Amino acid sequence: MIVGIPKETFPGQKQVAIVPDGVAALKKAGLEIMLEAGAGNEAGYPDELYKEKGAQLAGSRAEVFQRSDIILQVQAFGANPEKGMEDLELTHEGQAVVAFLDPLSTAESVKKLAERRLKAFAMELMPRITKAQSMDALSSLATVAGYKAVLIAADNLPRMFPMMMTAAGTVSPARAFVIGAGVAGLQAIATAKRLGAVVLAYDVRPAVKEQVESLGGKFIELELETDESEDKSGYAKAMGEEFYRKQREMMTKVVAENHVVITTAAVPGKKAPILITAEMVKGMIPGSVIVDLAAERGGNCELTRAGETVVSHGVTIIGPINLPATIPYHASQMYSKNISTFLLHLVKEGELVIDLSDEITSETLLTMNGEVLNPLVREILGIPALEKKKEEQ
Ligand code: NAD
Repeated sequence: MIVGIPKETFPGQKQVAIVPDGVAALKKAGLEIMLEAGAGNEAGYPDELYKEKGAQLAGSRAEVFQRSDIILQVQAFGANPEKGMEDLELTHEGQAVVAFLDPLSTAESVKKLAERRLKAFAMELMPRITKAQSMDALSSLATVAGYKAVLIAADNLPRMFPMMMTAAGTVSPARAFVIGAGVAGLQAIATAKRLGAVVLAYDVRPAVKEQVESLGGKFIELELETDESEDKSGYAKAMGEEFYRKQREMMTKVVAENHVVITTAAVPGKKAPILITAEMVKGMIPGSVIVDLAAERGGNCELTRAGETVVSHGVTIIGPINLPATIPYHASQMYSKNISTFLLHLVKEGELVIDLSDEITSETLLTMNGEVLNPLVREILGIPALEKKKEEQ
């Protein structure tokens, strides 16, 4: 079987789905790799490196799609609204596609993938179970974003992060407050700490206190009822407006005392809760910076605008989007590991084997044999649920 790696076409997306080091592992499993020439260039992986690892180079994008049994991408079809659907006519029946596909926001595009009789796997639907940890591209993205958020904050702050004792006097360290200590938040804590800031953090899941402390951060205790804050998969549950009101009230002082606030608080499938109001921004030290990593999910700060920088009362509020694309070398390396581990999970003796009793397969597989399989996408499209259909038969 041939695995095709086309060049990414989403504007500003410099990553590549498989890095040269990933080629060997796939070849070992009996797969051939075909790369669209130049696909790795912008991430720092020239064609020669792929050739050295035994990948074939295709002269055109059409050739990659035509000859490959499986296409691996970072952002494809629905996840690339301007250009992604142009690839549809290059695909052929039975071809498998593995990529971020943004299926829940672009359900219509999933229908088109089904009509083309593709086997489409959405990386964002990877179940967050221990077995799938090394395939979880969202965690990789969050890691990169958490790191980069701190660099952006440092770059925009009119202060230095570390304490310095110099002949010109002592420079006091910056104080950083990280809200939400999941994958991105923990990486932000570690990075801010390495840069020398005094780091505080808060999360509704009390279980993360130890992790925050192990990175040298101080966990803020708020007198909030958080017993019911975590679901059985370890994710935050939506807490209700009264809880968020109390949380904002209790955090006002902490937010006002810190120079940098990095927000990463999210609840799966829900709009991010507003944890910093415009009024709270007013109370912050002039020159302070908020980097809102929840910007794409609605933002944790009332004033955040996704993809923009807003200055209010001397406070800079940054809502960055697609940060991993700004660190394409390592973001690609991590994604390559995630997607190849996933592919190797699906491939048995050089063939793609689809076992729907396997949770990793059934959760990620969106379309097969002309049908949309994902229950949420079916619901959005108004297609009856599959189980119900079986009962009717
Ligand atoms: P996320 O991006 O959904 O949320 C980020 C953080 O925001 C979470 O820690 C959440 O508790 C927190 N949060 C939500 N509401 C908040 C509020 N009001 N105030 C403060 N914080 C709030 O989460 P994530 O980073 O993707 O992961 C969360 C958990 O899932 C972690 O424990 C992580 O280890 C686990 N996880 C497991 C796997 C796996 O096993 N394969 C993969 C990824 C993550």
